[in-house]
Amino acid sequence: MTVIRGTDVARSLGERVQKEAERLAGNGVRPCAAILRVGENPGDIAYERGAVKKLELLGIAVRLAGLPAEVSQNTFMKELENLNGDPSVHGILLLRPLPPQLDEALIAERISPCKDVDAINPDNLYKVLAGDKSGFAPCTPEAVMAILDHIGEPLQGKKVTVIGRSLVVGKPLALLALDRNATVTVCHSRTEDLAGVCREADVLLAAVGRRGLVTADHVAPGAIVVDVGINVDDAGKLCGDVDFESAAPIASYITPVPGGVGSVTTTVLADHVVRAAKLQNGL
Ligand code: NAP
Repeated sequence: MTVIRGTDVARSLGERVQKEAERLAGNGVRPCAAILRVGENPGDIAYERGAVKKLELLGIAVRLAGLPAEVSQNTFMKELENLNGDPSVHGILLLRPLPPQLDEALIAERISPCKDVDAINPDNLYKVLAGDKSGFAPCTPEAVMAILDHIGEPLQGKKVTVIGRSLVVGKPLALLALDRNATVTVCHSRTEDLAGVCREADVLLAAVGRRGLVTADHVAPGAIVVDVGINVDDAGKLCGDVDFESAAPIASYITPVPGGVGSVTTTVLADHVVRAAKLQNGL
């Protein structure tokens, strides 16, 4: 069994992104990401801090656009329109979930598709559905694909099982795997005999948000296991959906939490911002 470290996967992608960012800067374009955060949620602040560090390290400027938790829809939309219209901002990352007074579906529709680096706009989600690479896919599912590429086992013809069917992770992940000619099964909270279904998989991708849901019982000998889940254990430490201790000896490759998918996601975000800057400037 090999433990796949997200930092190893992120390194080679990060080097490529940094070179591109330098090339763009040499052409007078400094790639810039705006991070739009509403309120003071500690999880959002921690994610923002990590993203800022990674983006700046790779040569990308960051504009922090913080709005109060009680912001109105009108004020939010004005800020979004400002960022959409500002030619010095190439990518917009919206931290979610948003407070209940904000209409998330409408906001997703209004974010400029060419700046929508985490793919919440329906145009970009449709492109994921259509297998059209000209848009952006959500960063986390793409990070999972980068991990699978790093392992070097092609997905073609493999049985890939995704646990979770959210719009932000599970569904796009299933579509990206399908686009690589995997035979894809999607499990969710109503799936019967989850362990039995998962045991059929060559590649098991867990994106649920339930600590320890995936145990040795869910993993076929030699399967690849990628854990997208982010949970907190009784001691307050981060952990995934997979019971690492029991599953790891059975898997061929497995990602840890922390130090797995999450470490790759912000590098994928940086890659998207650089690509957005290139496209917007015809470089
Ligand atoms: P979500 O919207 O809550 O979706 C969870 C999915 O899991 C749903 O489809 C749900 O099924 C399914 N599920 C819940 N309980 C289940 C069970 N007992 N058996 C099988 N399926 C079950 O969560 P999300 O936004 O997709 O995020 C999933 C996890 O990924 C979370 O832990 C989140 O923190 C993490 N995450 C990590 C990153 C990263 O960069 N590493 C980024 C984003 C999210 P139903 O549809 O039937 O309800």
